[in-house]
Amino acid sequence: MTSMDSVLSQGVGSESGERSSKVQISTSDAHKVDGKSHPEVIHWHKRGVAARALHLSRGVEKPSGRVTYIVVLEGLCRFNVEELSTRGPYCTAKISSLEMTKAEMEQVEQDPDFVTLSRQFKATAMELISVLEQKQKTGGRIKVLLETLPLHKLADIFVASFEMSLEEQLSMLDSVDPKVRLSKATELVDRHLQSIRVAEKITQKVEGQLSKSQKEFLLRQQMRAIKEELGDNDDDEDDLAALERKMQSAGMPSNIWKHAQRELRRLKKMPPQQPGYNSSRVYLELLADLPWQKASEEQELDLKAAKDRLDCDHYGLSKVKQRIIEYLAVRKLKPDARGPVLCFVGPPGVGKTSLASSIAAALGRKFVRISLGGVKDEADIRGHRRTYIGSMPGRLIDGLKRVAVCNPVMLLDEIDKTGSDVRGDPASALLEVLDPEQNKSFNDHYLNVPYDLSKVIFVATANRVQPIPPPLLDRMEVIELPGYTAEEKQRIAMQHLIPRVLDQHGLNSEYLQIPEAMVKLVIQRYTREAGVRNLERNLAALARAAAVRVAEQEQAVSVSKDVHKLASPLLDNRLAEGAEMEMEVLPMGVNNNEISTAFKISSRLVVDEAMLEKILGPPRFDDQEAADRVATPGVSVGLVWTNFGGEVQFVEATAMIGNGELHLTGQLGDVIKESAKIALTWVCV
Ligand code: ADP
Repeated sequence: MTSMDSVLSQGVGSESGERSSKVQISTSDAHKVDGKSHPEVIHWHKRGVAARALHLSRGVEKPSGRVTYIVVLEGLCRFNVEELSTRGPYCTAKISSLEMTKAEMEQVEQDPDFVTLSRQFKATAMELISVLEQKQKTGGRIKVLLETLPLHKLADIFVASFEMSLEEQLSMLDSVDPKVRLSKATELVDRHLQSIRVAEKITQKVEGQLSKSQKEFLLRQQMRAIKEELGDNDDDEDDLAALERKMQSAGMPSNIWKHAQRELRRLKKMPPQQPGYNSSRVYLELLADLPWQKASEEQELDLKAAKDRLDCDHYGLSKVKQRIIEYLAVRKLKPDARGPVLCFVGPPGVGKTSLASSIAAALGRKFVRISLGGVKDEADIRGHRRTYIGSMPGRLIDGLKRVAVCNPVMLLDEIDKTGSDVRGDPASALLEVLDPEQNKSFNDHYLNVPYDLSKVIFVATANRVQPIPPPLLDRMEVIELPGYTAEEKQRIAMQHLIPRVLDQHGLNSEYLQIPEAMVKLVIQRYTREAGVRNLERNLAALARAAAVRVAEQEQAVSVSKDVHKLASPLLDNRLAEGAEMEMEVLPMGVNNNEISTAFKISSRLVVDEAMLEKILGPPRFDDQEAADRVATPGVSVGLVWTNFGGEVQFVEATAMIGNGELHLTGQLGDVIKESAKIALTWVCV
């Protein structure tokens, strides 16, 4: 036996029983049997195992010419080498058996030390087997062996099934004393067990580290599967896919598309709980929602139709309308003309906003209004940088997102109300917006990529010209709308406001009639303004009162069968005696059409002076003629005016005994104070 080449192995549990072992011998160049080459000097171990060859088989020849033989050996006993001699190419030895006799064995098995040792060995071996069982689901056979084998053989056979170093194998071979052998075997088995445990611990640790992200991934997959099953596809990943599709169809310019993709890649890698996920997502949504290319199709501009539209929407204002038509005509001839930005200047309610929306309608474009009143922060125009918490895009970008086309008519409302403070100067940001050279690549801080505003038509409104910074004013063409005379207001009310107000309240002229004389009274007694906004409000109050009445009547007709007179406390309250209150009793047999016709005819409400007072309250302004007023001694006439309109005022004086001093009360300006003093000197002279 060559202790170098033979390996005692795999014998445990093989068909040939516990005593058989396979020994593999390979023929190498160094071991050629022809004797030409010298065999290596082999160091022989002084102990060995006697074995009987049971079977020899030739393996497949390798391409190198090397052949493997398999010898099946049956181990017989340990032996001790007494004397070694060489005969030809073979070695022979004189040996003595180390096998114990039966009596010796019985004696050993009685030894309490041996019994304890073997119990310990069995316990460790059992433990190892159960660990292996958990891992590989095998080991049943080894368990049987452990139960059935005689104790003195157990250690040898069991240990043979481990991979161990040659030194360890030889040390086992050398352990002739069964007690030593058992304790060595216990140690080996225990070591094996420990190494398996350590390996297991390491794998568990690695698995634990992986599991955090992997668990999440797995759960997400499961969630998706469940949602798919339920037909509910709104989970995050689907959302992101939808967002990506939306981004693809947004028609972004290539450099912005690249930027957006980079951001999307970052977002995909983030777990949704991560701070920044939402802000990144909202940002991408904005990029996808912004109209990069989507534009309302501009129809062939029909100047006649545009003029008709302006006339239809607005009374008077012929000069303003003329200027708008000129502006549109230039656009028709040169669509990309960089004409000036129109700026309507005038008091509130003179139709600035509605003129701008008429321009949009005439051009067939969408209309968006951006209110600049009270804007003091530059970030309102340009947006906040995304590094700020709660950052948002500026109002312009937000407006474009709302309107969803890149070529709307954008009204910059109340451009004179922007102020500047420590947070920057919004007017200078507006300069960039209104400058056709610069607004091609408008830079919103939040958006962080340039946006082309050059297709937007800007129209501005202001109440006064003075507060508008000169550079901004320089970029605009001011069109003044100075306000309306009482007659103009009356025409506007009759032709535009009343039909609109009635329509807004679900009424028509068959329910409510406001005679021209009453409109005049409303203008004289209840409004004092340059525009028509308060007038419209008062007319709306009349319409509301009528709506209450109509709604109550409708209810009464539908619920009561034999009502002879329809009246309600609310109605009595609201309406003056003179109003047409009586109603006919309608037989319930008639059809609906007949009811409504009868109802309409009987309930038409005509506004009169008494009703005006009931609904709008006592007159707010005195409309007496100036000639009547000044006929009274001590009354003189003055004129007051502001940008929002002017007014004739009556100054009343009463004669009393004084001490020659002049007291001025209230918040009077220097001019008024001066005037009062001049008046006094004039009286005294
Ligand atoms: P502004 O923007 O100047 O404050 P708006 O455009 O909001 O005023 O106008 C207020 C209301 O008055 C609107 O309903 C508008 O239609 C109406 N209006 C103003 N001027 C006219 C006019 N000349 N003809 C018809 N309606 C008018």
